[in-house]
Amino acid sequence: MAYEFTCPSCSEDDHLYGRPVDGVIMLRCGRCRHEWPRDDTPRCATCGGTDLSTVSRSVMAGGRAAVMSVVGRQKVPVCAVCDRGAVEKYIAKGQNLPPGYVTAASQPRA
Ligand SMILES: [Zn+2]
Ligand SMILES: [Zn+2]
Repeated sequence: MAYEFTCPSCSEDDHLYGRPVDGVIMLRCGRCRHEWPRDDTPRCATCGGTDLSTVSRSVMAGGRAAVMSVVGRQKVPVCAVCDRGAVEKYIAKGQNLPPGYVTAASQPRA
């Protein structure tokens, strides 16, 4: 999941420095010296919501081979809002997400 940080004081997003303080990462702005705790809450890449859960996605082997086979599973985040269609279609039926399915929670939807 991508984390993007912006200084809440001056909107600087380039010169930010992090350091651990009591188990929390404190971010410091190199421009205005504002300091704030990093928000570690996973967020949906598409809507920014925090109602995420983790589901499995099938991983196929084979490449160009004629016969593809499921070789494993990958954990991927899904957004309760943006990925609802896929969750209802697959997860609610006890299936994994299809191979190559990119969830809205992990990559912004156009
Ligand atoms: Zn700043
Ligand atoms: Zn979302």
